[in-house]
Amino acid sequence: MNFNRIIVWFRNDLRVKDQEALHKACSSGAEVIPVYCFDPRHFETTEIGYPKTGSFRGKFLLESVADLRRNLRKIDGDLVILRGNPEVEIITLAERVKADAIFFSEEVTAEEQHVDKSLEKAAWSKGIATERFWQSTLYHIEDLPFPVTQVPEVFTQFRKSVEKMASVRPTYPQPNKINFPNESVIPLSGELPGLKSYGLEDPEPERRSVMEFDGGESAGLGRIQSYFWEGDHLKVYKETRNGLMGEDYSSKFSAWLALGCLSPRTIYEEVKRYEKERKKNQSTYWLIFELIWRDYFRFITKKHGNKVFKIEGIKNTRDSWRRDSADFQRWCEGQTGVPFVDANMRELKFSGFMSNRGRQNVASFLVNDLGIDWTWGASYFESQLIDYDVCSNWGNWMYVGGVGNDPRENRYFNILRQGKNYDKNGDYVRLWVPELADIKGFDIHQPWELSTAQLKKIGIQMGNTYPQSMVDLEGVF
Ligand SMILES: Cc1cc2nc3c(=O)[nH]c(=O)nc-3n(C[C@H](O)[C@H](O)[C@H](O)COP(=O)(O)OP(=O)(O)OC[C@H]3O[C@@H](n4cnc5c(N)ncnc54)[C@H](O)[C@@H]3O)c2cc1C
Repeated sequence: MNFNRIIVWFRNDLRVKDQEALHKACSSGAEVIPVYCFDPRHFETTEIGYPKTGSFRGKFLLESVADLRRNLRKIDGDLVILRGNPEVEIITLAERVKADAIFFSEEVTAEEQHVDKSLEKAAWSKGIATERFWQSTLYHIEDLPFPVTQVPEVFTQFRKSVEKMASVRPTYPQPNKINFPNESVIPLSGELPGLKSYGLEDPEPERRSVMEFDGGESAGLGRIQSYFWEGDHLKVYKETRNGLMGEDYSSKFSAWLALGCLSPRTIYEEVKRYEKERKKNQSTYWLIFELIWRDYFRFITKKHGNKVFKIEGIKNTRDSWRRDSADFQRWCEGQTGVPFVDANMRELKFSGFMSNRGRQNVASFLVNDLGIDWTWGASYFESQLIDYDVCSNWGNWMYVGGVGNDPRENRYFNILRQGKNYDKNGDYVRLWVPELADIKGFDIHQPWELSTAQLKKIGIQMGNTYPQSMVDLEGVF
């Protein structure tokens, strides 16, 4: 269909490269109005009392939107900023500027789909056309070798089928120019809100962070450049990916992927180029393997809908969880008395990031050692993670909670054994739990093994300078 004026509504696809909606709108010859709408519902307080979007992600989002606007301005466009419910605000704008179509990326979870449907209904009632685009995954939904309702429940089956029977589509190039309407149509494109308007403070700078995360496509592409090409880290990714400290043990692409500043296909193409120009090995494949995990959780969420947020999960397991707010708070604050758990939870609290290894351990601890409602953990992560992705977060939590479709029954992580394997000398714990820093070597993981006299010598008093452990942990061996 031919349109004269198209609104491209940006959501979790904050980029100009490999942006099908933008690409199609620009190549149609129509005037194009890119729009971002800050939805107040994304900043509401959740049942556990934390904001849905905490300050780390809030800041990253604002930076990403600002970067998108700069990149659009470089190609003669702009980004109109709205605030309010998109299903209302975008329709009002469309009527005001006489747009005849709205293009946007499809989301998979119920709240977002409700917004999509309301927006479509309102648009159609006013004679405005809409087009949805599937943009968030490596494999396009239409290229799956099965309908989404038949997505295999087990990851390995899913991976093997897509690897064998589907291929990754090429990326869309960035448009060279946007035909943005003149001032008589859009006199002002609007100011970006500040964090404070959503009740959030700028996060304090944290020198112990794995790295500085700047929001936006430009910084995301910069991270590909530094991790793949300058640092040449991709060739050892499989061996380093379980690390805990520093920039380079894993890609750190997650925050840019979550807001769509980077598309998985852009990363895929860079991996293929790296394999041609530098090296192809198990590590280069493994990064793609992880992106397939990301796809898997997205398609499983699309298949099961709201069940992924429910305590019974997709397995429909009966609810027998504890809901002890005081114990839960100790976990959130990194005050459980188990140093490896506390180090990871403090990293999350003070930096907005935690390694995959850390996430698995703290989640298992909450669920298996404390027996606390896994949805509380997922909800806290939602607030705190800079890279929160609705499907990856709730999907992974459901797995740990034992209510997903993991064929391995018991996902218990022995925290001390994990500490021994991944933080043998205790350096990671020393970084985030400084009150124990004087305990030498691996002993920092189990201060309860030292005598009161030994601890006293280095100024530690269990239950006073550091909490007593909430649980008796199994030994390392
Ligand atoms: C309890 C729990 C909650 C999680 N919540 C999130 C979340 O909200 N957002 C998120 O992006 N990831 C989440 N993960 C998955 C994983 O921990 C992060 O993607 C990863 O640590 C991000 O670091 P990275 O980009 O350096 O990863 P890398 O190891 O470099 O992996 C590359 C990319 O692959 C994808 N990926 C890797 N592992 C997984 C996985 N297990 N599931 C889905 N995708 C994966 C991510 O997009 C990641 O950026 C969660 C894992 C657990 C156990």
